Amino acid sequence: MTKNNWAEICGQCLGDHGIKNFSALEICDVGRRSNGAILGTPPLELLENAYKLVGVLEWLRERNGTSSVLVNSWYRDPRYNAAIGGVANSMHLTCGAADVVKKGSIPSEVADMLEGHPDANLLGIGRYKAFTHVDIRGMINRSSPARWGSNV
Ligand SMILES: [Zn+2]
Repeated sequence: MTKNNWAEICGQCLGDHGIKNFSALEICDVGRRSNGAILGTPPLELLENAYKLVGVLEWLRERNGTSSVLVNSWYRDPRYNAAIGGVANSMHLTCGAADVVKKGSIPSEVADMLEGHPDANLLGIGRYKAFTHVDIRGMINRSSPARWGSNV
């Protein structure tokens, strides 16, 4: 699927679900290159996981004064994930994980906000220096919660 095909097809799906603040190319930046791998599109059925994650990201967007949640990395196909050194069972493979930055907040604050989410016990939260990883593992029957990193 080309980048334009993906933007159109996924964009239509997001629109059908009333999702306005996150775009197809944030979910999958089709064609992004890293270490010789080229990011491909996810199977459309994985969008069910993306919708669940959008619910968490929309909640995060409204915290501490509404501000944009910027996505560094969301979906990764298996080859791309391996090329960048991602773990084999990475939640990024499921469309249910994103590495994010919230405008106006530092990563440790974002991680702390996510700890306050009503379903925090279903989430994976990774604390990194420049971003925060969040995933919905417990909403797709993977063991949860998971926490790692320390923002230092
Ligand atoms: Zn991540």
